[in-house]
Amino acid sequence: IIRNPGEPEFHQAVREVVESLTPFLEKNPKYKEAKIIERMVEPERVIMFRVPWVDDKGEIQINRGYRIQMNSAIGPYKGGIRLHPSVNLSILKFLAFEQVLKNSLTTLPMGGAKGGSDFDPKGKSDNEVMRFCQTFMSELFRHIGPDLDVPAGDIGTGGREIGFMFGQYKKLKNEFTGVLTGKGLSWGGSLIRPEATGYGCVYFVQEMLKTRGESLKGKVCAVSGSGNVAQYTVEKLIQLGAKVVTLSDSDGFIYDEGGIDQKELKCVLDLKNVRRGRIKECAKEFKCKYFEKQRPWQVKCDIAFPSATQNEISGDDAKALVKNGCIAVGEGANMPTTPEGIGVFQKAKILYAPGKASNAGGVATSGLEMSQNSMRLSWTREEVDKRLHDIMIAIHDNCVKYGKEGSYIDYVKGANIAGFVKVADAMLAHGVV
Ligand code: NDP
Repeated sequence: IIRNPGEPEFHQAVREVVESLTPFLEKNPKYKEAKIIERMVEPERVIMFRVPWVDDKGEIQINRGYRIQMNSAIGPYKGGIRLHPSVNLSILKFLAFEQVLKNSLTTLPMGGAKGGSDFDPKGKSDNEVMRFCQTFMSELFRHIGPDLDVPAGDIGTGGREIGFMFGQYKKLKNEFTGVLTGKGLSWGGSLIRPEATGYGCVYFVQEMLKTRGESLKGKVCAVSGSGNVAQYTVEKLIQLGAKVVTLSDSDGFIYDEGGIDQKELKCVLDLKNVRRGRIKECAKEFKCKYFEKQRPWQVKCDIAFPSATQNEISGDDAKALVKNGCIAVGEGANMPTTPEGIGVFQKAKILYAPGKASNAGGVATSGLEMSQNSMRLSWTREEVDKRLHDIMIAIHDNCVKYGKEGSYIDYVKGANIAGFVKVADAMLAHGVV
């Protein structure tokens, strides 16, 4: 805390990991002696830079750009770019730290990083977004590369932004390489990448339910967010016979008692990805309820899929979920549950999957995009989906291996130890560097 003042999200993420790793570290003193944890919480490199651009009125705007290159022990840095006004050093360091363990869990050779800017794409024209992305990449390009650091999307960075950034990188470097993932299909992207985080999260929850002899069929699900992760979580849930009753954005949530169907989901995709509107507009179209400035955790559901942002489930929200009969939580977002909320879920012994395990399908499929780029070929939709599914099953098995405590599986402990061991062993092998 003295070393990193004013970084509450980073402290929160580190504390959760260190607390759950402590008994394991006591039993394995080699990691303590080599000060692996102390080294892992110090980013290998932090890059911060000015991003000036000119808006449509001709006015100069100044944003701040970041890239946190956290750990490259097991592969090139990899992690998303977040564009949101709340972005600061603390949030990106927490995300980069989580990314190191998550990428390790995927079974693929990827180090961890995160980047972004306090730029808000909301309400900006396509031209303004393009000018921002070009200026952002004009600095970032010298710090990344296909064997060095491969950024991807995150909040506020979707296909449009990745396109503008890739175009600028290609122009500046005068070469066509797989330097970003989440690319369009005609220029190096992978099938299933847009779907991967949401699909992967649902696959993970399916595995958790199996441990209790349950399935998704007929389950009532509350999903938050309405962006990339939420959209494809809902798609997979509908395919598997679950009923999704909520979606949200930062203004409020919709509650559709009968369940959101394929037709309504298509409408949400068009609203969010093309028209760039607000979720309340769906309430009118679907003739369902809308709750202004509220989060969807007070509704009755069997499974919760927080898929918007960090700390969106408070201790009270978690209590309401448990009281209403929720049996499982699959985190699509990163660190969406506060420490108090995690405590409530663990005390109630419901199935609780931390984001670093359940949302790892996105970065795993980014890893598959990198493989396809290196081989200069494209796998079919079925092939990528099968690999994604197999990876999520492998992550689940690994969490069980390290997290099983009698009949209860502590997925937080399981994910943290499984992710840590691979990175820590690589760091030990590399010596003190
Ligand atoms: P998008 O930008 O596509 O969507 C984000 C959604 O969350 C929007 O509906 C947005 O609403 C809402 N949201 C964002 N910030 C807040 C906030 N402060 N309060 C309430 N709602 C908010 O992002 P993604 O779907 O890609 O990402 C969602 C989460 O999933 C993030 O935590 C991200 O780190 C995580 N994640 C994403 C992966 C990916 O592959 N995309 C991979 C792994 C994790 P609004 O439009 O009003 O801002």
